[in-house]
Amino acid sequence: MAERSEKADAGGRARLRALAAVDEVLREPAALELLERFPRELVVDAVRAVIERLRAGILAAGAAGEASAAQAADLTPAALVPWAARLLEAAVTPSLRRVINATGVVVHTNLGRALLPQEAVDAVVTAASGYTDLEYSLVRGARASRQDHVHDVLCTVTGAEDALAVNNNAAAVLLALAATARGGEVLVARGQLVEIGDGFRIRIVGFTAEPALEELAGLAHERDAVLVDDLGSGALAGLPMFAEEPALTESIAAGADIVTFSGDKLLGGPQAGVAVGRAAAIEAMRRHPLARALRIDKLDLAALDAVLRLYLDPARALERVPTLAALAAPLAEVHARAERLRDLLTGSGAAEALPLGRVALLETVARAGAGALPVTEVPSVAVAVSVDGDAEGLAAALRVGVPAVVCRLHDGRLLFDLRAVRDAELDELASAVLTALT
Ligand SMILES: *Cc1c(COP(=O)(O)O)cnc(C)c1O
Repeated sequence: MAERSEKADAGGRARLRALAAVDEVLREPAALELLERFPRELVVDAVRAVIERLRAGILAAGAAGEASAAQAADLTPAALVPWAARLLEAAVTPSLRRVINATGVVVHTNLGRALLPQEAVDAVVTAASGYTDLEYSLVRGARASRQDHVHDVLCTVTGAEDALAVNNNAAAVLLALAATARGGEVLVARGQLVEIGDGFRIRIVGFTAEPALEELAGLAHERDAVLVDDLGSGALAGLPMFAEEPALTESIAAGADIVTFSGDKLLGGPQAGVAVGRAAAIEAMRRHPLARALRIDKLDLAALDAVLRLYLDPARALERVPTLAALAAPLAEVHARAERLRDLLTGSGAAEALPLGRVALLETVARAGAGALPVTEVPSVAVAVSVDGDAEGLAAALRVGVPAVVCRLHDGRLLFDLRAVRDAELDELASAVLTALT
């Protein structure tokens, strides 16, 4: 054993001596091309990083007494340039990558929640690429509030007296509490004590008994206090499938003074938080010093403005808002999509088609997701692909492909749930799967 590790040490020392130096690499003709394309400091940093990684690899392999990729790598200056080029390309490429969501979770927090309807995308582009009347009254030629753009439509679609948009629902809850809690004291219904992630505490599912909101409102108002109801998802569309989700209009009717919800959950809009309710309570939020720190940004406001207008005609919202469309799509439509994916994977059109026996359709249950109450479930269909061997490795390869694909694993099979996959993505999804598998 000792002899073996000594040998590795000697080998390792030789490898370290063979490793090119930064200056040598920078004198390579290919490196000169990089220096023309990128700032010198970036190129030097990239070359340094490559050398550091190789050095660390050699040392680690030496310590473990085994051969590694670094042991086998060509360490000459010319060989290091392509590595540096790849690091540079990665450094100047935006980090956020497109993902095909084959998980069956429609509002997937880790995958960016809601997709915007085209109307909202257009509004974002307009607001992002030119000046707008964000906080300016064109009629009066004077300063105005950014809230003016969404205030009335929020009141119309929620039936509330007053409304305020902020940058996310956590901010709406924070501001509601900051603006209304007297002496810093807040009473929280036990049924609402749970953590939703990053230490933000809210709600429990399946609690034995939850007091009716009317009761809580009565108790609060007897004591001259304010009742805040944090809905989370804020389903507006009145779809039968949202029957289990806490309903906004019911909450207001039951006497909640402030109701808060997210812009990018079941509303299907941008990241935003909305507080609606009684005028005095909302006004207290508006006037609180924290309101400025928590304000909604202009791109989100543009998208929220456009999405809310779709809700003026609920049938139109259902058609145009991708989150609603995905959840409301008839099972037959999802089934047809699954059949198309199966055909693309097994059909003669594909150069490396999969044998029919490896691809099956499977009934699944998709979820709305992202809510504090992840209760909304919808029947769905998945394409299940059997693999011989390393299913996890294949799922990992799909995740780092272009576009990235995130799917589920079940019983050693890859499951591609079609509920949150759009028709336009099917060809790409099929070729990503075929590339990963063959
Ligand atoms: C999601 C959620 C939040 C946080 O909303 P964000 O928009 O992510 O800040 C707060 N409360 C409840 C009940 C939620 O479901």
